[in-house]
Amino acid sequence: MSELFFAGLDVGGTTMKGGVVDDTGRMLSAINLPTEPQRGQDFGLERMCETIRQGVREAGLAMDRIAAIGVATPGLMDIPAGIIIDPPNLRPWRNVPVKSHVAQVFGLPTAFQNDANAAAYGEYCFGAGKGCHSMVLFTLGTGIGGGIILGDRVLEGAHSHGGEVGHIKVELTHPRPCGCGLFGCLEAYASANSVVKRMQELLVEDATPCSLRGRAEFTSRDIFDAATSDKLAAKIVEQTAYYLGIGAMNLMHIIDPEMIVFAGGMVHAGDGFLERIKHHVRELAFPIPATRTEIRYARLGSDAGLIGAAACGRQLYHRLNGAG
Ligand SMILES: [Zn+2]
Repeated sequence: MSELFFAGLDVGGTTMKGGVVDDTGRMLSAINLPTEPQRGQDFGLERMCETIRQGVREAGLAMDRIAAIGVATPGLMDIPAGIIIDPPNLRPWRNVPVKSHVAQVFGLPTAFQNDANAAAYGEYCFGAGKGCHSMVLFTLGTGIGGGIILGDRVLEGAHSHGGEVGHIKVELTHPRPCGCGLFGCLEAYASANSVVKRMQELLVEDATPCSLRGRAEFTSRDIFDAATSDKLAAKIVEQTAYYLGIGAMNLMHIIDPEMIVFAGGMVHAGDGFLERIKHHVRELAFPIPATRTEIRYARLGSDAGLIGAAACGRQLYHRLNGAG
């Protein structure tokens, strides 16, 4: 029996993660190398190939056992052309021909995808969305990334800007500034960083006693922990659930997905937080999608990008070979 193996590469601003995933989504290996973008993009391309090689070696495989490669990188990018255009986290890289370079070095079919889209595709194939037909992922981290999968297709959009679910508008009257340069985006309210900022602002506005008051630093996790007994923290958490409910509702009214998945550190907030999001969705959305759309937490954790990248390689392989 010949087994199929796919190499994945997830490029981030600090580290690159490489590894091998089999045809069932099982991860055989995962290794990290520093990205060191300041050393330039030629170095970066070589580091990508080295990360793939080491990931394959770590899985105990020779390179000729790999059927296809998938590479996920942060934006801005031209997905069909396989190029990272001007990535804010990878300065000074510019117009980096990732897909053609990796394909040429290894002589293998190579898929290229936005990292947030790849994570969504990973969850769709092998995580929370396994078995469903359409899925939206919101990843709540420093910012809010995510992706939209419709019937095994990643919604890349006409300009590689599809599925930017962190930047749908949730507030337009007195909108908060977003890291993207625009205003009122979901990310400006419900990312881990924004939750901390909103808490800091509330502590200035409202003198109610709060366990976080006077602390030099706290994280969104501290706020969620405090929310069980602390009125101001509970208010921030409830508002965060409300904004995420608006985000989910908007996607439900546009594409009516079978499932909406939330990923990132806030997953640790548990079922109570997910129930509050669902409560707001029921208040905000049309009744049928509000009751029937499955809303749940992601399952792949921080491996979603790597597994998703490999899954993109797997998808390419099966398309080239006539299955799916
Ligand atoms: Zn934005």
